[in-house]
Amino acid sequence: MGMKASDQLIKHYLDAARFMLFAGEVREMFPRIKSLDQRLYALHRFVRVLSDPDRGAAFIADRWVWSKDEVSDWETTPAHETQASEIAQVIKKFNDDNPGYRLKAGSDHRDLGDQIWGWTNNPGVRTNAPEYLTKVRVEIRRKVKDGTPRYPDLGDLLDPATGQHVFQIGHGGLDLVALSAAALLFWPAALLPTTIGLIEAERFQAVARFVEFLKKPFSGPVEKLLVAAPGLSAHGTGRAIDFRVHDSSGKILHGAGGAANWRSSGFAAKLKSAMSVALHFHGPLTSPDEPWHYFFDPES
Ligand SMILES: [Zn+2]
Repeated sequence: MGMKASDQLIKHYLDAARFMLFAGEVREMFPRIKSLDQRLYALHRFVRVLSDPDRGAAFIADRWVWSKDEVSDWETTPAHETQASEIAQVIKKFNDDNPGYRLKAGSDHRDLGDQIWGWTNNPGVRTNAPEYLTKVRVEIRRKVKDGTPRYPDLGDLLDPATGQHVFQIGHGGLDLVALSAAALLFWPAALLPTTIGLIEAERFQAVARFVEFLKKPFSGPVEKLLVAAPGLSAHGTGRAIDFRVHDSSGKILHGAGGAANWRSSGFAAKLKSAMSVALHFHGPLTSPDEPWHYFFDPES
C-alpha cells in the first residue's frame, strides 16, 4: 500500500470514528482542521479524554466551547449575576488584605474558530502531529496472520437509502447526547455485533479496533502540550476567569503567564486566600499550571 492509499484509508477510518463517537458540533469540528496529521492528532486527544474515567463524555459536554450567542445568553442569567458578585467580593478582600495592590478579573472568550487556529498553530502540535500520522500509517497497513488487512476498506460510507454516514449511530442534531454512544465502544468487543444492528459486525469491529489504537498513549517529541484540544479550552465558556495583579498606579505585575513568579512573589497564595469568599469558584487550574485561573460552577 502506497502512502497515498494508506492516507485515504486513514481518512475513512477517521471519519467513521468521528461519526461513531461524537455528535453535533463536536463531530463537525474535525473537518475544519485542514491537515490530516493535525486532524488525526486532535481525534487522538478527544479519544484520550473520552476514555479517561476521570473525564469522559461528561467533561467534553461540560467544557465544550460556547458560541458568541451562548455567551451573550449566559450574561443575562442569574448565575452570571452570582459570578459577578462573587468576583467583586474577591477583589474587595484582596485589595483590603494587600494595600498598594489591585486585583482585576476578566478573560477573553475563545470561540471554536480561535481554538482551531490555536491548535493548528501550536508549536507542540506542529511537531507531534506528523509523528503521530507516521505511527498511524504503520498501524493502518498491518495485516492479520492469514495476510488479510487488519483495517479493511470500509466500502461505501454513505447509506444510499438515507444519505447518512453509515457509522452514525442513531443520533445527530446540535446537542451532545450522542456522546453516550461512545460508551458502546468500551463494552467487550464480543457484545458489539449483537448490540449494534446498524453496521455489519466486521466493519464495526475494524473501526472499533482503530479507536482502540487511538486510545493508546502517545508521547511525541514535545512531551507536554500547552494547548487544549480544539473546543475544550478552559476559556471556551463564560465560566473561566483569569485574575491579574496591578500596583496602585495601574501597572500590571502579574497576568496570565509566569506561574513560578506568581508563587515566588506570594501572590498565588494571596489570591487563593481572597478566593475563599467566593463559594462557587474552584481552582486554581493545575493542568496547565495557572495559579491565576479559577473556574465558576453555579451548581456546586
Ligand atoms: Zn486561564
